[in-house]
Amino acid sequence: MDNVSFTKMPHATPVYLGIDCGATTSKIGGVDARGAIISTTLRQRPTRGEDGPVAIIEGWMEGADAFLRDEGLSWDDVGGVGLAIPGPYQDYGILGPQPNLPRSLDGWHFLDDLTASVAKAARREITVVTANDGQLAGLGEAKRVQAITPGGVLMLVPGSGLGCSYVHADGTLLEGDHRAAAILCHMPAPHVKLGLPPFQCGCGRDWGCFEAYTSLSGLPQLLSHFLPQFPNHSLASPASPAKEKALALRELAQQGDPLALAIFDLQARAMGAAVATGCMAYDPTHIVIGGGLIDPEATTPAFRQRYLEGIKHSTAEYVWVEIDKLHFHEASLGELSQATGAALLALGR
Ligand SMILES: [Zn+2]
Repeated sequence: MDNVSFTKMPHATPVYLGIDCGATTSKIGGVDARGAIISTTLRQRPTRGEDGPVAIIEGWMEGADAFLRDEGLSWDDVGGVGLAIPGPYQDYGILGPQPNLPRSLDGWHFLDDLTASVAKAARREITVVTANDGQLAGLGEAKRVQAITPGGVLMLVPGSGLGCSYVHADGTLLEGDHRAAAILCHMPAPHVKLGLPPFQCGCGRDWGCFEAYTSLSGLPQLLSHFLPQFPNHSLASPASPAKEKALALRELAQQGDPLALAIFDLQARAMGAAVATGCMAYDPTHIVIGGGLIDPEATTPAFRQRYLEGIKHSTAEYVWVEIDKLHFHEASLGELSQATGAALLALGR
């Protein structure tokens, strides 16, 4: 995200910090006492998951210290800390077995460890809260769209996986009794309607999860399916690995490459079916779409329009309510959405 220049106003204290633990990098953000974003500068550092819990916490705390320093704040100004971290969990604040972080972290009491480190840094007790990273992205974006029109917010973020969340009309997050609500990503996609077999998913389910048809994780399978229709295509050469080819597709789509466009058109149709499924479960007013395919720095306006129109068209085909009742938005916080959501969760508590 670009650094946005603006006149520095004193922050309304207390402030709330948000830490977003990603598989490779962790990001730090924050909101003030009114819920306004303190800075749009993307601050991130390596998560160092393979080095174990002590190294991970050290990185988060260094990031938080640097954030406070850069913004002319101190731990005295902090009212709470939120942590976005991928699930599933053994229990609240205890990591379960999941694909995005090393398996050696299974069973880690991350909330206790972070709470202790925060208390040490601040020399007093500060409330630390946590939720699923995909859910918290929605909380970060909901505040903006709910300020335009009241209503519930369904957010879908196709990236390496498919992040999903639902925020109630009152601005609170639907977390679920086991903090596993809105896992649309691992619900079955109508793969027969999409003309595709049930794809493999990283979660191990074999019913054709939405994630496999909408995110980077399933691109190699989509490519294998579509390549035979384009035998002379540069990606048909077996030389480069499947993952490398998958990453080249977004760039090719911007240049109008027919294979790449066919693949992303299919992803848009699958996304629309996921949106319709989510709408039938939660009946929202707002639909927010995030992820790399609507990133203004990596995609052309024409491509983004084609992708979003594809999603809307497919949603209309399956959804229960009239499509005109749904407000579609592009996500605005980019890579800061989860850290911002984590900070807002801390503010809400
Ligand atoms: Zn799955």
